[in-house]
Amino acid sequence: MTNNTPYIPANTADVPDARGYYGDYGGRFVPETLIPALDELTTAYDSALADPAFQARLAALQATYTGRPTPITYAERLSEHLGGARIYLKREDLAHTGAHKINNALGQALLAQRMGKRRIVAETGAGQHGVATATASALLGLECHVYMGSVDIARQRPNVFRMKLLGADVIPVDSGSKTLKDAINEAIRDWVTNVRTTYYLLGSALGPHPYPLMVRDFQSVIGIEARAQMLDQVGRLPDVCIACVGGGSNAIGLFHAFRDDDNVDLIGVEAGGRGIASGEHAARFADPDIGRPGVLHGTRSFVLQDTDGQIKNTHSVSAGLDYASVGPEHAHLRHMERAYYTLATDEEALNAFQVLSQQEGIIPALESAHAVAEAIKRAPTMPPDSIILVNLSGRGDKDLDTVIKELGVEQ
Ligand SMILES: *Cc1c(COP(=O)(O)O)cnc(C)c1O
Repeated sequence: MTNNTPYIPANTADVPDARGYYGDYGGRFVPETLIPALDELTTAYDSALADPAFQARLAALQATYTGRPTPITYAERLSEHLGGARIYLKREDLAHTGAHKINNALGQALLAQRMGKRRIVAETGAGQHGVATATASALLGLECHVYMGSVDIARQRPNVFRMKLLGADVIPVDSGSKTLKDAINEAIRDWVTNVRTTYYLLGSALGPHPYPLMVRDFQSVIGIEARAQMLDQVGRLPDVCIACVGGGSNAIGLFHAFRDDDNVDLIGVEAGGRGIASGEHAARFADPDIGRPGVLHGTRSFVLQDTDGQIKNTHSVSAGLDYASVGPEHAHLRHMERAYYTLATDEEALNAFQVLSQQEGIIPALESAHAVAEAIKRAPTMPPDSIILVNLSGRGDKDLDTVIKELGVEQ
């Protein structure tokens, strides 16, 4: 990247429109009291992107703190093992804190600092976004409060400890199902109450406009780097890009740079859990009985819901994919048939987790293992001169306890 290229390029895509819509999806479904705050955020964000000093500061921190650019790795043994397409991995697992979430947390924390808001609130489910936010807050000297369902606090002890060690205040949420969606409600409530001093740092390509756009922008470095690395190191673009889709931030971050490359297929992989028939999954696009357009947490997208519009409980072996809605831009890309969405079950992800570990010496996050599972299915059906690029969104150290429990590995 040359010095006069802004770290985050101006949006040349046709979405979102000025009201934050991606076709029929997106928008702002929030209480009236939040509209001025969202307007203030939009204005501040536009002004930050236009400021070369902001762009340079973000670029410098991504290089010297996060460790960007992350490499691409040719998975040679895995490719030979499967026979067929050559598989390349974009190594977000090597970013500081072990996943792509820091790209967004750092960008938004810098924006909060620029806006003069020294108090950060965030929500977290499994704790990964909470850890990324606590990390960025520690780096910039911001006060950090993380809302977390009490059920999640009990099952994610190590991340709770990490956040506290990083100086964050972890606030238990005892309402509703005591998990992520309740934590989001509480974080929004805090923001409404304290909006003058407080910045709400949202963790995925979700929520009311401008969040899906900002998160896409901060994560788009994944695809910008990967596209240039493929051209430099491999000599051509991949035939297929694959990423797992929870809220959709790592996937949109990879896909965005390739959206005008018509010969590159974009594939998102949702959590198939125990299978569609079981009803225990988080595959918003795959189950027409319960996955329909609806509104959740400020945005219109595909939402898992019952016939009365009540939000369905979801299940995935990977906490990061376990959410009832999906970023609105994915609903739009699917509608436009620019991206396609499929699923991997818990069992397929656990298999891919082991295969990648043994073939490449890389233990992937269980979320990322869903993307690897799709590459394992596809590669053997493709010719040997074809290329698959998989976004390895994070490393698997955080998942060892879960995997031990699921596989019964001897301890
Ligand atoms: C949180 C997380 C995800 C899912 O979030 P997206 O916004 O869909 O990217 C995927 N992979 C890892 C490693 C995560 O921590």
